[in-house]
Amino acid sequence: MANKINIKSLSKDDLATFIGAKGLPRYRAEQLFQWIYKRDVSSIDEITEFSRELRNTLREVSFISNLELVKRLTSQDRTEKFLFALEDGNTIESVLIPDEGRLTLCISSQVGCAMSCRFCLTGKQGFVRNLTSYEIVDQITAVNRLIRPARISNIVLMGMGEPLANFDEVVEALWRIVYFIGISRRRITLSTAGIVPKLRLFAEKAPEVNLAISLNATTDEERNELMPINKTYPLPQLIAACRKYPLQPTRKITFEYVLIDGKNDSIEDALRLVHLLKGIRCKVNLIPLNIHPESSLKRSPDKKILAFQNILLKSRIRALIRGSKGQDILAACGQLRSGDAKKQLAF
Ligand code: SAH
Repeated sequence: MANKINIKSLSKDDLATFIGAKGLPRYRAEQLFQWIYKRDVSSIDEITEFSRELRNTLREVSFISNLELVKRLTSQDRTEKFLFALEDGNTIESVLIPDEGRLTLCISSQVGCAMSCRFCLTGKQGFVRNLTSYEIVDQITAVNRLIRPARISNIVLMGMGEPLANFDEVVEALWRIVYFIGISRRRITLSTAGIVPKLRLFAEKAPEVNLAISLNATTDEERNELMPINKTYPLPQLIAACRKYPLQPTRKITFEYVLIDGKNDSIEDALRLVHLLKGIRCKVNLIPLNIHPESSLKRSPDKKILAFQNILLKSRIRALIRGSKGQDILAACGQLRSGDAKKQLAF
């Protein structure tokens, strides 16, 4: 592949320039994009609309990169986990969640994660590198190819990594998902641990996708302990940024709140949460902690979860208890990990 251009690494304008420089008409760039993003082709040879001669010409100077499927696991609840290898040998995970006519893909934005949230397994492997925009988008293309003729309908950026810490590539990926793959921005949700200065920028630069904030605590003391990022961007700053976030009229911010026994699940926490969220158009997803072998934290008992939810509901905050799917294959929230080939053996 040396010296050949990876077509997926080019923006639409750059591809048009590249195609023009080869003496080809510009509409070829449009056709290439259609075949790559709408028909999920994995090689130039699959583009049957092009003559053999044109395919040969393109193949001499360019190629289409692909994620390599290393492993595919199916949960008892039909959730599927895909382990993909990147060109440099690093691996990432994506999770497909079928639900009431929707096919949601949970995609990763980084190899590993630098946030070190205490309850999350991805954080334990540390940060390896950012994904490129095409590696982010390719998770969708690769899974679409595997599940043909079905197609992914919804995207959540809630897999490995902190998306706002990989800002430029994530924003470019979102534009491609919306405009090239054609998934509506209403069906896309980005979840962040709360990189406060990036929130406003995100509203300016990215398509208007849904925003989810991993809140998980109601005091700085508690949140510092669970999510070290809170020491850099404390709760008051995060909540103020949410209040100012330019929401579309019909939209709400989702606050995710992982319920951990004895840490953040008291009645006082629920009352403080109501107070914090006052005046923010929002809903709350309560996520009972998914346990993993590398943490001693425990899931809140059902009684406490229901009591917590009740307080929110009584204050007219929409609060759903989200049962995480795919726990038997470590595909649920906070259970994704990849790393190097050695670690894959334990996968
Ligand atoms: N870095 C981003 C996206 C990844 S985490 C973020 O922090 O939002 C996606 C969601 O999974 C977050 O809301 C997080 O709070 C939740 N989560 C992480 N570990 C979990 C666990 N062990 N059990 C339940 N939810 C968890």
